[in-house]
Amino acid sequence: MATAAIIGGGIGGLATAALLTAQGWEVEVFERADSLPSTGTALGMWPEAMAVLDRVGAAPRVREIGIDQRTAEIRSRDGHRLGPEVRAKGATVIISRPRLLEALAACAPTVRFGDRRAALAGLDHDVIVGADGIGSIARTHVLGRRVDPRPLGVDVLIGRCPGETDVFTEFWGPGRLFGVTPRDGGYINWYSEFDPRAVPAGTADPGTEPRAFLRALYHGWAPRVLETIEGIDEATALHYRSRDLPRLPRIVRGNVALIGDAAHAMAPNLAAARAKHCSTRRRSPTLWARQGTSTVPQPRPRGPAVPQPRRYAPTRRRAGAQGSARCCSPGRCGTSR
Ligand SMILES: Cc1cc2nc3c(=O)[nH]c(=O)nc-3n(C[C@H](O)[C@H](O)[C@H](O)COP(=O)(O)OP(=O)(O)OC[C@H]3O[C@@H](n4cnc5c(N)ncnc54)[C@H](O)[C@@H]3O)c2cc1C
Repeated sequence: MATAAIIGGGIGGLATAALLTAQGWEVEVFERADSLPSTGTALGMWPEAMAVLDRVGAAPRVREIGIDQRTAEIRSRDGHRLGPEVRAKGATVIISRPRLLEALAACAPTVRFGDRRAALAGLDHDVIVGADGIGSIARTHVLGRRVDPRPLGVDVLIGRCPGETDVFTEFWGPGRLFGVTPRDGGYINWYSEFDPRAVPAGTADPGTEPRAFLRALYHGWAPRVLETIEGIDEATALHYRSRDLPRLPRIVRGNVALIGDAAHAMAPNLAAARAKHCSTRRRSPTLWARQGTSTVPQPRPRGPAVPQPRRYAPTRRRAGAQGSARCCSPGRCGTSR
């Protein structure tokens, strides 16, 4: 049976693990976090992504939990609609990251949580998949050098507040916008994107005082924005600086392939992140070819030795070989999440 090591148990890693497992591969997923996350923002699963989730087997659960989102609108800061309402061509399901990861994990093999990989050395699998996000260590191996993410000059503050909506709305003003979207679990998803250089000196810190910061940044905006800000759950607010990756000259080297943010991290406001990871799975031969490699990563041939690009020294692989690694997958262990 062909074997695969997947570095990273995020959206890309779990989806790939589920797909390879369904095709008869023996897959190990190494995840540095101790467990699946319990917090996270809402993600829109576009029709392309839903098609892959169907293949993985996670789509029924995602449809059950998620919110079917068909309309979106953009408004000015005072609430006037800018242009017509946009209607989705296919069903897009909005679901929070923790629920999406749970649905994927239930279809994936056992995840080795708490297993942070510092390098690829010691992995004796036929194929190694770098699904370790924007700060990927696998990327350094594939490129033979470090390529760091680029700051985009846009900060993001995201979170949730109690409530319900079935419309995706963005309010636009100079140097900032505010978004309100559906979300599962009786919550609304909100996000603020702003140019940090346009924030007046003396404004509260977005990381430690998110409500005070938002009140100052959106003073005088539409009532819907102000009501949302008053209702935010400050404990779940998350502030980060948007970054992306330059186009990489390659995303495959030998038996190592990069996927998801490790290969092509992009600004969240391009709104394609969640769809692209799943679509990478589906169209990977085409995408890998476009990136300058002619083939998808090839499993190591069985039988007589064949000259290979540099490989890693084999080590014994067995359960618990990584010391503190814990194995837990809802699908395998029957853990209730
Ligand atoms: C704060 C934030 C908010 C975002 N919001 C949105 C949004 O609203 N909509 C949207 O579409 N996109 C959003 N994105 C982007 C989206 O999260 C990513 O595009 C997507 O999660 C990438 O999936 P991935 O599996 O490639 O990487 P990740 O989701 O980053 O998963 C990588 C996994 O690898 C693990 N890992 C990393 N290094 C190692 C290692 N050395 N060893 C073992 N495990 C490792 C990490 O712990 C993580 O679980 C957001 C990103 C961030 C940071």
